[in-house]
Amino acid sequence: MSAKRIDGKAFAADVRAQVATHVARLKEENGLTPGLAVVLVGEDPASQVYVKNKGIQTREVGMNSFEHKLDAATSEADLLALIARLNADPTVHGILVQLPLPGHLDSDLVINAIDPAKDVDGFHISNVGLLGTGQKAMVPCTPLGCLMMLRDHLGSLSGLDAVVVGRSNIVGKPMAQLLLAESCTVTIAHSRTKNLAEVCKRADILVAAVGRPEMIPGDWVKPGATVIDVGINRIERDGKTKLVGDVDFASAVEVAGAITPVPGGVGPMTIACLLANTLTACCRAHGLAEPE
Ligand code: NDP
Repeated sequence: MSAKRIDGKAFAADVRAQVATHVARLKEENGLTPGLAVVLVGEDPASQVYVKNKGIQTREVGMNSFEHKLDAATSEADLLALIARLNADPTVHGILVQLPLPGHLDSDLVINAIDPAKDVDGFHISNVGLLGTGQKAMVPCTPLGCLMMLRDHLGSLSGLDAVVVGRSNIVGKPMAQLLLAESCTVTIAHSRTKNLAEVCKRADILVAAVGRPEMIPGDWVKPGATVIDVGINRIERDGKTKLVGDVDFASAVEVAGAITPVPGGVGPMTIACLLANTLTACCRAHGLAEPE
């Protein structure tokens, strides 16, 4: 039997609608408009598209969007000065520095200069530590979106075997922390993992965050498993450019219980969670009840 498709596009639209309702209420009852500042350094084409989409969706939910586009040659001192200004600006509740940064800029230094309370990407070392110790943190958007879809589909995740393939700081590691916090038994696999097929086959929940087109075939998937495909890979097929995930969808869909497609799965949830985090940051900054 073919797996259920988890519709990230519809789910994300739902999340955005809830955020918009909350934003309207904040304006009416508290005279507050959440604001998100996005900083882009250089002209990486993919980053330009992401930043544009973030701006559009931020405005659509009724928030203020502040876009700062800086020259590729911007110095670290100038970038840090901008971040200091945004940290001090009470109309800015969330700050996102679009990665990757040009090579002459130290990403860790720049990210750690953001006020952790405004770090809506959840990459600041304080938020990483808070998440790892089970304290109230800003949670990275992509893994947060994955978790929301898993909870919606499975309810309780307690006791399930979860395998996360990929150990990056932005996806794999925080995803594993979130699953651990849900009481899953978590395995993190990576490029040095032995017998990856066997490891994947154990998973009730399989999260693929690798960046290799269709690397995980259906026969690595446990029958009935829930598969979350984070990968976004651009390939040429039949003379056309196509987006595919890290999982071979055609074979995995025949084995899994549920699966996220690419596109239309994890991708749309990421920006929706960014907006949800900005709303949360605004509520926290003003001592107001946080959205559920
Ligand atoms: P990274 O390149 O930072 O990390 C990739 C990870 O995959 C590494 O831990 C690496 O292992 C592991 N890996 C590489 N090759 C293999 C292999 N053959 N077997 C097992 N593990 C392997 O990528 P990201 O985490 O940033 O992104 C992963 C994917 O998710 C990409 O396709 C990216 O485009 C996508 N993405 C999608 C987002 C969305 O919104 N949907 C957001 C962010 C990312 P090692 O550490 O040993 O090198």
